[in-house]
Amino acid sequence: MIHKHQVLIIGGGIAGMGAAIEAKEAGLDVIVVSLTHPVRSHSTCAQGGINAALGNHPEGKDDSWEKHAYDTVKGSDFLADQDAVELMCKEAIPRVYEIEHWGASFSRYEDGRIAQRPFGGAAFPRTAYIADKTGHQIMHVMYQRSVKLGIPIVYDRLVFKLARNEDRVTGAIALNLITGELEAYQADVVMIATGGYGRVYANTTNSINNTGLGMVLAYRAGVPLQDMEFVQFHPTTLVGTNILMTEGARGEGGYLRNRLGERFMKRYAPEKMELAPRDIVARAIWTEVLEGRGFPGNYVHLDLTHLGKEKIMERLPQIRELALDFLGIDMIYDPIPVQPGQHYSMGGIAANKKTETPLSGLYAAGECSCVSVHGANRLGGNSLLETAVFGKIGGKEMVKFIQEKGPHNDEESVRKALEEAKQEVEELLNKDGDEDLFELMRELRETMKEYVFVFRDEKGLKTALDKIENIKKRYKNIKIKTKTRHYNLELERAISLGAMIEIAEAITYGALYRKEFRGAHYRTDYPKRDDKNFLHHTLLYRQGWDKLPKIGKKPVVITKWQPVERKY
Ligand SMILES: Cc1cc2nc3c(=O)[nH]c(=O)nc-3n(C[C@H](O)[C@H](O)[C@H](O)COP(=O)(O)OP(=O)(O)OC[C@H]3O[C@@H](n4cnc5c(N)ncnc54)[C@H](O)[C@@H]3O)c2cc1C
Repeated sequence: MIHKHQVLIIGGGIAGMGAAIEAKEAGLDVIVVSLTHPVRSHSTCAQGGINAALGNHPEGKDDSWEKHAYDTVKGSDFLADQDAVELMCKEAIPRVYEIEHWGASFSRYEDGRIAQRPFGGAAFPRTAYIADKTGHQIMHVMYQRSVKLGIPIVYDRLVFKLARNEDRVTGAIALNLITGELEAYQADVVMIATGGYGRVYANTTNSINNTGLGMVLAYRAGVPLQDMEFVQFHPTTLVGTNILMTEGARGEGGYLRNRLGERFMKRYAPEKMELAPRDIVARAIWTEVLEGRGFPGNYVHLDLTHLGKEKIMERLPQIRELALDFLGIDMIYDPIPVQPGQHYSMGGIAANKKTETPLSGLYAAGECSCVSVHGANRLGGNSLLETAVFGKIGGKEMVKFIQEKGPHNDEESVRKALEEAKQEVEELLNKDGDEDLFELMRELRETMKEYVFVFRDEKGLKTALDKIENIKKRYKNIKIKTKTRHYNLELERAISLGAMIEIAEAITYGALYRKEFRGAHYRTDYPKRDDKNFLHHTLLYRQGWDKLPKIGKKPVVITKWQPVERKY
């Protein structure tokens, strides 16, 4: 049986639910198909806040969406598309109020206005927050809204293939993890909203489901991936587990200190200090470690002891608990050990500011997409914002698409995709080679951590690419031990690993191509920004499993701000 709907949303995070709500409110027949229940999406883990130039902070009275846009463009090292950034920053203000009116209980000032905290790379304190549980609340509010509107949501479904014909996308195929059966969804428009790919790194803040499979759905259907070389490493993740310690901790006044007790940021960003953008702080920490001023075990200290118990308990209760639970350290009394870890994917499915991809009828929003509002480096608090704003815009655009283009009625293409998908799953289930799937995954993740991290060079990147190509070959020869259908998580991991390999290859190949230093992409062998040769987006076109992608270029949209040197 084929499930038929007008709108299919793949992924139930803030981006996907935002789009679903918009399309449903316009009266369309919408379904959300997701790997996890919405409230278990990675969006729920977001801690520090969401940016909007509300001007509520006593020091933020002169803030405006234009200033927010400039900070974002400068933070992006001038690679973001400025028209998309302007749209996001303008829409930020009504969108935050809308989410508040839906029930999100933002932290407030005495007079009742939404409170704002300083975040990295921002000229004014403009990050609205809900203690250090901002994503948790926004996700729940979105979910409640979807229940009120009666949006059907099916979860425990791994979407692993798109259906398309010559002209447009026609649907998608999911593995029902509960039964092990395949399900076919036919839809007039499809949105991918599957989040980031953090798990391709061994050291990541991301949830177990952030494998990048959603991006690969589009890639395999002929849509290019954009700017994949730009990976954000968050400066402060808990040593060992890489659980995030929010930038809000530094926003509230936290210090970073090396083994000598120095606030070393004075050497790297004398004005902004701990509140320089993430790429700069992550490189500073790693430089301290590499030059021997870190602690054994490759970390520095995040010191909040001077903030006092009351402030920590009110503003940062969750990260205190996390550090207590995982390391037994109470940040009220002692500094916590932190190190940089993979955190966010600036790159993703190539999409424009309407969230349209080059494949007609296919939309992409949230972290899986590259609209591009973050360019070479994202500012903290701008990602929840992107998901909230572009999810909604995508919803509206899909409504317009259906009004203009109407239904496609091409059931045949969906059946064909279903048959191919069945074959792919049978082949995987019958795999009886001698490679251990989990060992391959471990090797892949360690390779990315080792060679495609904060500092990169040609030699390391070539080593990484060789290792990835080797893992790719061995992937054909894996063994699946679990042959049953119900909740076969080995099968789920095998499908996801295939995608993770392609993502790792795209990141590394893009990083090899870009011979310059820009934002989060630091080539020690090309340590200068090179606007003459690289002020453009990178597009990667898939050429098949056994070949490297083809590289294309896309110009950066510049509206008001010509690139200048980026100093803090
Ligand atoms: C620990 C942490 C803290 C953060 N804190 C902040 C912050 O304070 N401020 C900020 O601006 N940003 C923050 N970020 C970033 C931000 O939270 C994310 O970028 C954003 O929430 C992503 O939302 P999304 O809707 O795009 O994806 P997600 O929330 O990741 O949702 C993806 C959805 O897709 C589903 N899915 C995935 N693959 C498939 C598949 N193959 N088939 C079907 N469904 C699939 C998943 O189950 C999930 O429902 C943080 C990120 C992390 C990891």
